Amino acid sequence: MSAHEPIPFLNLSAEYKALEQEWFEQIRMTGGSGRYILGPQVAEFENEFAAACGAGFSVAVANGTDALLLSMRALGIGPGDEVITTPYTFFATAEAISHTGAKPVFADIDENTFCINPDHVASRITPKSKAILPVHLFGCAADMTALNTIAADNGLAVVEDAAQAFGARVGGSRVGALGDVGCFSFYPTKVLGCYGDGGIISMANEIHVAALQKLRNHGASAPFMHDQLGYNSRLDEIQAALLRIKLRKVDQDIAARQAIADRYRQGLQATDVRLAQAPAYGTHVYNLFTIASARRDAIRKALQANQIPHSQCYPLPLHLQQVYAELHYKAGDLPVSEKASMETLSLPVYPAMPHAHVDRICEIIRSALG
Ligand SMILES: *Cc1c(COP(=O)(O)O)cnc(C)c1O
Repeated sequence: MSAHEPIPFLNLSAEYKALEQEWFEQIRMTGGSGRYILGPQVAEFENEFAAACGAGFSVAVANGTDALLLSMRALGIGPGDEVITTPYTFFATAEAISHTGAKPVFADIDENTFCINPDHVASRITPKSKAILPVHLFGCAADMTALNTIAADNGLAVVEDAAQAFGARVGGSRVGALGDVGCFSFYPTKVLGCYGDGGIISMANEIHVAALQKLRNHGASAPFMHDQLGYNSRLDEIQAALLRIKLRKVDQDIAARQAIADRYRQGLQATDVRLAQAPAYGTHVYNLFTIASARRDAIRKALQANQIPHSQCYPLPLHLQQVYAELHYKAGDLPVSEKASMETLSLPVYPAMPHAHVDRICEIIRSALG
């Protein structure tokens, strides 16, 4: 391998090649079955997914954003309510809250995990608060023990945004089994992704299953009978067939991601860069490997000069986005999130990433920092 072989950010087409044959067999079977949406593959996948995350039940939907929206609708969240969440996340998290008619209330993050800070959540509770919506950001489990205690003490629901974190754990339990409901995305770049859009909601309490099955199918209580407004939010059979194949090897993928993260930490330990790592209370599955440095711009320049792809997740925290100007936050209100948005940089990581590529990236960063 030459030292200057191009380094991709991800390599989804290579992963596809490895399971193409197995998936195509399933596509042929599905094609002949005449069942294309919410059929037997989806039902089997829902069972297997619930078992894999230890949640008891799951309901598949069309994408991760809908998983959040339908979950909150099933929990009765709507106009007049407040949902406390993090501003340092992908926009879909807060967008789903706003689409219920509720108001997102932003609490600051922890500077090591980049996940919501439980102490700050506690300080944002009002009589209108209905739920806490933590995000297991970049694959790092949020501090669910502390958040669940706050929720229980204040009668709030907990909706986990686990879109980036399939398989992460707190204690012995996997994310998605820690709150009232867990919301996952199968967007292709996630730890568990499909080849299109997809999502799922996991839950321990069967009470939400029927409500969510109804919401995803136009609020129908029986064929052509509607007693509430729902959505068209369903998963395809061919995506479910693919996800069943990928679910069987996702633990291996996670171990490979964790080995790559170890390699980055070894390569960068002598620098003053802050490195992604698992928190004391749980694990990290490294959907992204995110570093933070006051000298981020020097690092970016060096990566650019060497054609190393990288991404800036996320450049503007949600409380400062124009769409939320009406909420009247200002710069300085959530300083840890604002600092993160100025200092973080996400580096390439995917299960089959050669460790030699990690080493080369570390060398470039070390020399950029002198
Ligand atoms: C990807 C993502 C979503 C949305 O998932 P989609 O399937 O793209 O709708 C929500 N929250 C977070 C944190 C995400 O990373």
